[in-house]
Amino acid sequence: MAVDDATGEQIGLDDVDVRVGWLLDLITAAGDELVSRLWQPATFDVLDAGRDRQDRRLPAQGHVAAARLGWNPIYPDGIYVPSRVTRVVTAQVMATLRTLAYRDTAIAALSARFDSATGRLTAPTGSGDTVPSGFARGVQRQLIAYSRRTDGAPAGRLRITEIQGPPQTSAMARLSAADRQLAQLAVTGDELVLTVKLPTCPAPGRAQWRSVRLTAAIPEHLHDRTITAWHLPTLVLDRKGLLWRCAATELVPADDLKSAAVAVGVDWSPTTLGAAAIVAEAIVGLSSDYRGWTYDDRGLGIKLARLQAEGQLLHAKAARLTRLAATALPEVRAGLEEKIAVLGAHRTAVGVKRGKINRELAFDFARQVTDYAAAAGAQVIAVEDLTTLETRGHGRVNNNRAAQSARRQAVAALAHTAAGAGITVVSVPARGSSALCPGCDEPLSRPGGYHDAWCPRCRVGGNRDHVAGVNLAKRALLGRNKVTRRRGQLPAVRVAEHAPVRRCRDKNGPTPSRPRHCRVRRSLPAVTQRLGVNPKQHVPAPQASVWDTVKPTPPHGDAGSRDTRTPLQSATRVADSMRSM
Ligand SMILES: [Zn+2]
Repeated sequence: MAVDDATGEQIGLDDVDVRVGWLLDLITAAGDELVSRLWQPATFDVLDAGRDRQDRRLPAQGHVAAARLGWNPIYPDGIYVPSRVTRVVTAQVMATLRTLAYRDTAIAALSARFDSATGRLTAPTGSGDTVPSGFARGVQRQLIAYSRRTDGAPAGRLRITEIQGPPQTSAMARLSAADRQLAQLAVTGDELVLTVKLPTCPAPGRAQWRSVRLTAAIPEHLHDRTITAWHLPTLVLDRKGLLWRCAATELVPADDLKSAAVAVGVDWSPTTLGAAAIVAEAIVGLSSDYRGWTYDDRGLGIKLARLQAEGQLLHAKAARLTRLAATALPEVRAGLEEKIAVLGAHRTAVGVKRGKINRELAFDFARQVTDYAAAAGAQVIAVEDLTTLETRGHGRVNNNRAAQSARRQAVAALAHTAAGAGITVVSVPARGSSALCPGCDEPLSRPGGYHDAWCPRCRVGGNRDHVAGVNLAKRALLGRNKVTRRRGQLPAVRVAEHAPVRRCRDKNGPTPSRPRHCRVRRSLPAVTQRLGVNPKQHVPAPQASVWDTVKPTPPHGDAGSRDTRTPLQSATRVADSMRSM
């Protein structure tokens, strides 16, 4: 619902979308102009040093830092834009530039080590310029493309501005950078009320900014959560219209790592997302039943890998057509460019689909692992430290399947979901977790092949991933008093310690779920109702995919609440640009 704040007059939701579109147009245009003006090495020197002209430290808040440096956006003549909107613009631009400053440093370091004749990086000289290997590979590809463009001229130390253009950002308004004069958020019962100033025309003057009061219902699944504060949303336009992206502060039980006695270890596996096992600590030492649990991703991992391969194929095809178009006749080139555009659109669609499946998969995994840990009475969930883990050399298909992005998302979802249950997720060293015996720390044998593990001395073993889970849980329990915490990262155990984990037959974990096939009771006569020629079967469908666990949302913008006025040109353009992001 939307009303004008001053007059109380009702505003149609399509009108709101159009007006938010104008706001986003202003912000995007000003942001793009500012970024392209600042796209020079000097900008990144300043950000790298983190000092302003008076040699004071730059504040963390983007808009304050930008104001201190005199980095202000310029608007077209005759347009009035409140200073709070300028804050939103500079905060977003600073966030982008600060992220890219890291990339700039890495490019400078890596380009100095790049040999344009072989297309390889020479070994690092000091320990100061180490970058994650996946990141280094991306930069290496960029450098190869650059040396191809410049015909292999040795370039020496390069900056980010030389090898790539200013970034394109999606249209959004991060209201959290503004203050009460632009936007405020209030909670009344089950509703959020956002009051925000919006322009009433594409090129507003001073009088054309009016406060609009927007009301939105709090989603049902958040009703029984202890949310203490709602934060100003980021406004974006998607296919369905205006979308608020709100952050909320929620109370969760305090973690008690020091007194943890039961831990769950989660091992990543390429075939399904992960597997888990439980280790408990008692006076006699560590014990585990060595009976793990494997997450059932219901085929979505394969689906993701297939979509990824399809995206790569589309990309390769488009690249080939681009090479052909470069030397083609004009009329042929027009046809090729049309094809390239279609391939590009398909690739974007495949990417969006992958993103959605990834997210659903991550939260479903998180829910199930948290339930497993809670049933076992665990206080800690141990995951492998992803920075020390990189799967390579297993061929393209398997490397794709083990791609890190899905895991990173799964870890984030797991940390979030587990915190709600008072369980802490810690990262532990990954090295040797599926190669060494949890009992004696010696290499395991593989009697049944790659997926099997057995220690003849301790007489323990089982599935490779479950044994790895035992090792990870062991490392978390042993290192729980030496956890390092860093802002924005999981609590981490840095050193893998060893203590024997003996096999126990105590029941300390949940009973593994039975196979889904129901036993048929033959003593009862089967009741078959035949209605008509094609009998309807009233058998509930098996849970086939994670989509089934998500309740269907009511159609957004049903006929009653939204009016049907034709949206204006600019908002459509914004919506289009959002879609292609
Ligand atoms: Zn052993």
